[in-house]
Amino acid sequence: MAQDVTSESPEALRKELERYHLVVNDLHRKIRELESELQITTAVAEMPGVIVTRPELQQTMARLVSKIAMIVQAEKIMIFLYHAENSELTLLSPALGVTDDQATEIAIKPDQGITGEVYRTGESAIYNDALNDPRVLSDIVSKLRIRNGIAVPLVIKQRDEEERIVQERVIGVAHACNKRYEQEFNQDDLRLLEMLGEQAAAVISNAQLYITLTEEKQRIEDALESIRAGVIVISSEGSIRLMNRATCQLLNLPVDGYEGKQFAKVITSEEILKLLNETFNTHHEQSIEIELPDEQVFRAETSTVAGENGQLSDVVVIFTDITDIRHLERMKTTFVSTVSHELRTPLTSIKGFISTLIDDTEELYDSRTRQEFYGIIDQECDRLTRMISDLLNVSRIESGRALDMQISEINLRKLVRQVLNTQQQYTAEHKLINKVPEDLSTIEGDPDKVAQILDNLVGNAIKYSPEGGQVVVDAMDEGKMVRIDVTDEGLGVPQRHQDKIFDRFQMVDGDTRRQGIKGTGIGLYLVRHLAHAHGGDVKLTWSEMNKGSTFSVRLPKIAQIEQSQE
Ligand code: ADP
Repeated sequence: MAQDVTSESPEALRKELERYHLVVNDLHRKIRELESELQITTAVAEMPGVIVTRPELQQTMARLVSKIAMIVQAEKIMIFLYHAENSELTLLSPALGVTDDQATEIAIKPDQGITGEVYRTGESAIYNDALNDPRVLSDIVSKLRIRNGIAVPLVIKQRDEEERIVQERVIGVAHACNKRYEQEFNQDDLRLLEMLGEQAAAVISNAQLYITLTEEKQRIEDALESIRAGVIVISSEGSIRLMNRATCQLLNLPVDGYEGKQFAKVITSEEILKLLNETFNTHHEQSIEIELPDEQVFRAETSTVAGENGQLSDVVVIFTDITDIRHLERMKTTFVSTVSHELRTPLTSIKGFISTLIDDTEELYDSRTRQEFYGIIDQECDRLTRMISDLLNVSRIESGRALDMQISEINLRKLVRQVLNTQQQYTAEHKLINKVPEDLSTIEGDPDKVAQILDNLVGNAIKYSPEGGQVVVDAMDEGKMVRIDVTDEGLGVPQRHQDKIFDRFQMVDGDTRRQGIKGTGIGLYLVRHLAHAHGGDVKLTWSEMNKGSTFSVRLPKIAQIEQSQE
């Protein structure tokens, strides 16, 4: 062919040279294409198979964006992802050539700019005159100093077994901006970015799915670890999938390291093993109560989880601490019997004295004795009334209804005097002293309820001083509040009971000192509620065994509650 050329005319030679030139150019283009494809293949091959954490995803993205920048020869690479929660496309970090501050400021709606258009249509775009292109968002372009660029959709392609695409979903948009060496982007660049975009989309969506799942799993595991109930999940083959900290504590086992072990080798409690074996055999949910040596009571309940094929996949055991419920049930039973007893005592006495008076047709008793009988009947009736009123108030509190408050101005010295006069009728061994200063400021409150508070505290002071002694009621000004102290010289409250005595049905029992002292365990519970209902409080401020106690109530001078409409 070379010989032919030399023999041709200059014109023919020139034409031949032009043809050569075209062939060489074509070859150059093909080489460039091959080089790019090679770079893409290397870039893809360098991407890790499974990305498990967010930092790993960040590292991979950092590598990917610089590879893309190199391949399409761009200065800036930005990957936008669509977030359905706020319908926005935001910049995935890291972006190349964009600072983190700039990146956080950029959020684009799907109906905005070229990014929105590419996201909506799924069509790539070239914008070689960014500053004058009406499609682009001018503020972003000028802020980021973008001269030209290309944008491609990030598409997730779902394929069937024969690699046919069955579904496509756009998850975001990738931009390559500012061609280096002052050139413009062309269709070849677009094709390259599309190919890279496809790989990036797959990596991002897989990683995000994986990360979301692992984070979700971690959250569930953390939640299971932190709850008070014990949880064990056992596979159908009997190996432990999960056993939380609460279970380990409950079963008295060291925490950790049970995953994959057979439950029969880990759990030693015969009751629980029986429960599990029954669940595995019958596939029916079971439940038992277990009482531990330290008086803790648990309910263990099993439930079965069916797999996709309907077969047994897991057995879940949940342990709930029902110690408090059982304790409360016991306390309630005791309470009902003590209350019945407490109510019967004054009734028996009333009935006894009335029967005696009725039977005394011959008037064997003189008028002084009769008067005494009437006095006792009267006192016992008052005692019954007070007890019933306490019970009604407790039932009101228990059912969550607000107490009916009738607020008026209270002169505490006068109220204390009334309470002490009534209480003095029941005792000759105690000296009840009213030390409330005459000039103490009045308070706003419900007089009946404040009287009930004082009645309970003074009643207790008498009751828990079986040897007699002084019961002093004092009061003082404390700024916005008034403090009332009820002090006795009685038994005192043992240290370990001091926190509990204000709880319902709590009595310092099992104590020989109580012999002969009757109670229901609702007095202080009620006192606390009544004080709270006024915006005040009650505390045991001093107590020494066999020396006495001081209970202090603080009540606001100005009513802190809304008057009841009932
Ligand atoms: P109770 O009906 O048993 O008196 P309370 O709720 O009034 O119920 O009191 C709870 C417990 O607090 C009592 O059982 C008693 O042991 C203790 N307590 C209350 N007041 C006094 C006091 N002034 N001195 C000693 N112990 C007291």
